[in-house]
Amino acid sequence: MMQARELAQAGVEVILVEKGLCGKEASWAGGGIISPLYPWRYSEPVTALASWSQSYYGNLVESLEAESGIDPELSRHGLLMLSLEDQVEALKWTKKHKNWADPIEMEEIYRLEPNLREGLKEALWMPRVGSVRNPRLTQALYQSLKNEPAVTILEEQAVSDVVLESGKVKGAITRQGVIEADNVVITAGAWSGGLLESVGVVLPVEPVRGQMILFKAKPGVVNRVVLCDGKYVIPRRDGRVLAGSTLEYVGFDKQTTEQAKQQLADVAIDMYPALADAQIEHHWAGLRPGAPEGIPFIGAVPEIDNLYVNAGHFRNGLVLAPASVRLMTALLLGQEAPVDPVPYGLTRRC
Ligand SMILES: Cc1cc2nc3c(=O)[nH]c(=O)nc-3n(C[C@H](O)[C@H](O)[C@H](O)COP(=O)(O)OP(=O)(O)OC[C@H]3O[C@@H](n4cnc5c(N)ncnc54)[C@H](O)[C@@H]3O)c2cc1C
Repeated sequence: MMQARELAQAGVEVILVEKGLCGKEASWAGGGIISPLYPWRYSEPVTALASWSQSYYGNLVESLEAESGIDPELSRHGLLMLSLEDQVEALKWTKKHKNWADPIEMEEIYRLEPNLREGLKEALWMPRVGSVRNPRLTQALYQSLKNEPAVTILEEQAVSDVVLESGKVKGAITRQGVIEADNVVITAGAWSGGLLESVGVVLPVEPVRGQMILFKAKPGVVNRVVLCDGKYVIPRRDGRVLAGSTLEYVGFDKQTTEQAKQQLADVAIDMYPALADAQIEHHWAGLRPGAPEGIPFIGAVPEIDNLYVNAGHFRNGLVLAPASVRLMTALLLGQEAPVDPVPYGLTRRC
């Protein structure tokens, strides 16, 4: 949806074809943190997309709210990272990336988060990181597209194949027939690899299941995103708290498990003992589009004219999306790219 909006705003007519209902897969299931979890553990191509997008998010959310009347609830409450094994690497990274993070003293940790468990000694603080309520972000995108005359949305129509003629793509096939198009961009998340198989391209994007739970907590129990040993809690404005997430290689299986629910609840309650009194209101799973090193594929499919991909954003699709769609649009329309496009190209990576 973000790709469709970006193209339409650049003057392109877009047909968005969706196998189910728009915005109900990974982009709905995610947590909405507007930062890679441990940014220094990612390579420069991920950081480049993340940095561009982070500076743009405020503007994006404001415009989306104006276009749709739906507030995606961007909260700039910062991110607190506890118990880091690699604090030295983290600090090196922050020096290079304009002081995005700072060490923080114990007193200050408890001033920010009075309900955290006792006994914490040190943490890293990323004051500029925010989070967005992603189901609202997708609703806002959907409404914005509905109001956009250059976009046609076709839901509950899975693309089964792309139509290829003499090495050139002519459109996409659904059960309703062929949808003709001058250019086709595959943005099917974890399912993107399957769509390219039919044209003989092996795209190394695989589903990686992530489970999350939602506590119906009162406002003020958790005030910002807190990360500890790879698990995190994210507060929403109404007090609800998400706790996530698992990382499971189980194919296209979106079932939830009792074991994961228990584990996520234990970790969250260990961080915030007060969450033990909150009801677990919801438990769900989504399929991340996993790509090697978490670097998405953005660009033309080699040797097939007019076919493009924007997929494989793995754990960071919500934060990387604005820069990714701007890059894809720039490549399609011959505009100036927001970041160097080379690391995301399909040549040599597929
Ligand atoms: C538990 C969890 C937590 C996460 N937390 C965060 C976070 O805090 N921050 C962050 O930045 N990222 C996070 N992510 C990652 C992020 O959600 C994904 O990277 C991102 O949503 C991927 O977006 P996408 O549009 O590529 O895929 P999706 O949102 O999955 O969308 C792909 C769409 O393509 C459609 N489709 C598939 N096949 C076809 C077909 N054949 N024909 C037509 N349509 C098709 C699907 O139905 C779907 O609607 C998280 C993910 C999970 C699962």
